[in-house]
Amino acid sequence: MLGLMQDWPLLIHRIIDHAARQHATQEVVTRSVEGPITRTNYAAICQRALKVAQRLVREGVKPGDRVATMAWNTARHLESWYGITGAGAVYHTINPRLFPEQIAWIANHAEDRVIMTDITFVPLLEALAEKLPKVERYIVLTDAAHMPATKLRNAVAYETWLDEADGDFKWLDVEENAAAGLCYTSGTTGNPKGVLYSHRSNVLHSLAASGVDALTIGSTTTILPVVPLFHANSWSIAFSAPMMGAKLVMPGAKLDGASVHEMLSTEKVTCTAGVPTVWLMLLQYMQKEGKTLPDLKRLVVGGSAAPRAMIEAFEKQYGIEVLHAWGMTEMSPLGSLGSMKACTANLQGEALYDVKVKQGYAPFTVEMKITDDHDKELPWDGKTFGRLKVAGPAVAKAYFRVDENILDANGFFDTGDVATIDANGYMQITDRSKDVIKSGGEWISSIDLENLAVGHPDVAEAAVIGIAHPKWDERPLLVIVPKEGRTVSRDAVLEYMQGKIAKWWMPDDVQVVAEIPHTATGKINKVTLRKQFADYRLPG
Ligand code: AMP
Repeated sequence: MLGLMQDWPLLIHRIIDHAARQHATQEVVTRSVEGPITRTNYAAICQRALKVAQRLVREGVKPGDRVATMAWNTARHLESWYGITGAGAVYHTINPRLFPEQIAWIANHAEDRVIMTDITFVPLLEALAEKLPKVERYIVLTDAAHMPATKLRNAVAYETWLDEADGDFKWLDVEENAAAGLCYTSGTTGNPKGVLYSHRSNVLHSLAASGVDALTIGSTTTILPVVPLFHANSWSIAFSAPMMGAKLVMPGAKLDGASVHEMLSTEKVTCTAGVPTVWLMLLQYMQKEGKTLPDLKRLVVGGSAAPRAMIEAFEKQYGIEVLHAWGMTEMSPLGSLGSMKACTANLQGEALYDVKVKQGYAPFTVEMKITDDHDKELPWDGKTFGRLKVAGPAVAKAYFRVDENILDANGFFDTGDVATIDANGYMQITDRSKDVIKSGGEWISSIDLENLAVGHPDVAEAAVIGIAHPKWDERPLLVIVPKEGRTVSRDAVLEYMQGKIAKWWMPDDVQVVAEIPHTATGKINKVTLRKQFADYRLPG
């Protein structure tokens, strides 16, 4: 027997309709790519998104077609997403930090018909245009006054293009399982793989992501996503903020410590989210300049492991609660969040931070387990580590146009991460399965060593890779970047680490470098780092 409730498909345009009705005047503030701070609100965003949809349909864009965006976090970028999905099409976010050849590859693989982009990326696209024969039109997210002269095919300034529509448009209804968004994972090996979100998966993920034990987004929240819209759905914030009626602050192209601090401070931001590199830059800036952020209540950090020293500095020195989160593009992306439960809420001192460095527990909509190589489930004891596998309505079941099953016999997706889960359900990533160091038949977590090393007061960043060893198979090499204006020696770092980890986990050597390579999503690029140290031999 079926229930007798209404059929109300979970479609993305319902989010912006709701925001326009219930939170019409709530502000969306942008540091525009042209320079000045601009202000708009959800009613205006919704109206302009209707124009985007109307204009795209007139352009010949059909349901299911891909419209790419390669842009910073701005109100225009936001309204373009709602316009694209409201026309039944699919927003395909392109990460401009990818290698140009990768950008061309994914735009062709996705068969993007239109690319919407910022003035910043016009030269990059001009250099690639020849390799993108299927792109019919480039829409530059600016007005006529700032439109650069360009030979890009059918290039038009967004505002000029939008003025040709009146917004008298009805969203195109598609079914809730229809594709809505496409984001390619920045695979370090092989071709990038497309993760194809649906309307339903995005709506459910955003509901789960907004809750008080998740990102805590409500109508009195002011949220600033440093995490780009082109990085895994901006961790849901582009949907969660209008869904909950939060004030949204878009940082545009300037993501350095001083610029982010300025936006957080002048707009009285209460919650923000980004990767550790961004927060380390902000922390260094605040410490150097003696700045504070009295309005900021919560700082969400994910994408890479948050170092304990950084979590403690924000909480103890600045009174900003740090929420450690984990996820991946294939999970829309949030998979776990480190908020407190009844059983951890009263912890203090070291015991509290022992929990906070963990990546947290899965919210409703995410099922999680750890297994051995034969898919046997491992215990939740906080010690045993195994392959981290997940399932849920916002977890990928296949990659776009790749004919390959990516789920195990029980329908779980192997994340490629290695983790422990403790008795309270808190998961801790010990490594990527590709990066874990196999020494004498045992595993050493490169992440643990890195987190420990950045606790040294003179170390800005650390990376650990396995180096071939005749007896132990592999041994850890620690690579560090000193803080600006500081020097740091091998012995000082090793002495600092002594006694804080098992003896056999101690790195065999330390190399000081000026820079550690990063991927397009800001993670340490271990593939490149291993290549750099391909000829390196451990001492002795
Ligand atoms: P991406 O799909 O580019 O977001 O990359 C996902 C991967 O980033 C995960 O599988 C993890 O290896 C890593 N990752 C994300 N968040 C964290 C975190 N908080 N701690 C450690 N690794 C993380």
